[in-house]
Amino acid sequence: MSGAPKVHIRSFGCQMNVYDSHRMADTLAGEGYTETATPGEADLIILNTCHIREKAAEKVFSELGRVRRLKEEAARAGRSVTLAVAGCVAQAEGAEIIRRAPAVDLVVGPQSYQRLPTLLRRVAREGALVDTEFPVEDKFDQLTAPSPQATRARGVAAFVTVQEGCDKFCTFCVVPYTRGAELSRPVAKIVAEVERLADAGVREVTLIGQNVNAYHGEGPTGEAWTLGRLLQRVAEIPGIARLRYTTSHPGDMEDSLIAAHRELPGLMPQLHLPVQSGSDRVLAAMNRRHTRTDYLRIIERLRHVRPDMAFSSDFIVGFPTETEADFAATLSLVEEVGFASAFSFKYSPRPGTPAADMEEQVSDAVRHERLLRLQRAIDRQQAVFNARCLGRSFEVLFERAGRYPGQLVGRSPYLQTVQVEGERVPDVAIGDIARVTVTQLSPNSLFGTLADAPSA
Ligand code: SAM
Ligand code: SF4
Repeated sequence: MSGAPKVHIRSFGCQMNVYDSHRMADTLAGEGYTETATPGEADLIILNTCHIREKAAEKVFSELGRVRRLKEEAARAGRSVTLAVAGCVAQAEGAEIIRRAPAVDLVVGPQSYQRLPTLLRRVAREGALVDTEFPVEDKFDQLTAPSPQATRARGVAAFVTVQEGCDKFCTFCVVPYTRGAELSRPVAKIVAEVERLADAGVREVTLIGQNVNAYHGEGPTGEAWTLGRLLQRVAEIPGIARLRYTTSHPGDMEDSLIAAHRELPGLMPQLHLPVQSGSDRVLAAMNRRHTRTDYLRIIERLRHVRPDMAFSSDFIVGFPTETEADFAATLSLVEEVGFASAFSFKYSPRPGTPAADMEEQVSDAVRHERLLRLQRAIDRQQAVFNARCLGRSFEVLFERAGRYPGQLVGRSPYLQTVQVEGERVPDVAIGDIARVTVTQLSPNSLFGTLADAPSA
């Protein structure tokens, strides 16, 4: 194949991986690579993987089987393809990946992406290699920033990593092992990155981190800033109309963050706040460091400062030792809060985590049955939340064209997808924020018409 080399990056799992994949693409762009959405035409294929549950990790190995066949086909056509595995599976399994999937040329952990160009040159010279070090240099300093064109192609809503890693050590979770200790980026670096995004047309920024509200990055005069203070600063950047942050730990919902929800109109009234369980006994066994009452108190405080706040959460069912009474406590917490949406997972034992060695594991049949019951309760609440939006008007940020001509798709303040049609749609451009009246519902989105002229 002639011309610039092509890279195809496939992201699994969380938003942190989406952000990292963009940074890898930007860094490789500096080496002459262009991105392709078609794996069959790529010279370099990177799978950016997730290790959070067994199913996620196993998906990577089935995907590797497919990619191996592409690599073999390319070789028959006289073309060489490099195959890299990045992300948390790379960090957790290291050389074992190459043993199970010998077609893999490079295994690279999340802390080493800044070294990708060097690592690829070494692979070309020396053959397969593994880099899962936690280096001393700051990877964010060395990863290339996106070009304005790349930013525009990715849309008007962007993620910015402000914090990485986790020191909480919940007993079920691999993140502290795969992403390492908590690390916050300095305020000045984050502000510069958001300013660049705003200059390229981004209107909404989501500050992300495995434990984003534990943020304690260095401020301009050397003292540590909280996430609340960082949000206040980012809200001042011209062009940025909307802010969000994710994922938060209930134990780190400190006062300045709650105050930011009262003081910043651009901070959207939607929060993803994982609780995992409604039972204090299970929360203690999970080492969550908060109680059910603590969680409900935070919800109450946030609703006090922002009455229209919508909440989403994560739940794990069938954690070791979970009884029917513990599970009933989770269902009652759901009823008490009234979530706008939520993710729920069957507990998945992860090698090396304390919970995997706990004796009283819950059977798969029970985990499955509890998951269905919880999902039914959450679906009911989501339907109630969406139904309450019918007939209401709120501002929508338009992100892309719809599937049909004359249709635009955007996001509500509460993170719902909103599809808009009607004769006034041509007056609105991608990146505009306009008031929409909701006229119809489907299980996954809202439909509406423009209520008045686009706001600035
Ligand atoms: N840092 C966030 C927090 O404190 O909740 C979440 C991080 S984790 C990437 C996302 C979600 O995956 C968790 O909230 C939890 O519900 C789920 N999860 C993590 N480990 C799990 C496991 N071993 N089995 C099932 N679900 C798990
Ligand atoms: Fe995992 Fe979140 Fe607990 Fe950290 S706080 S160990 S990322 S679940």
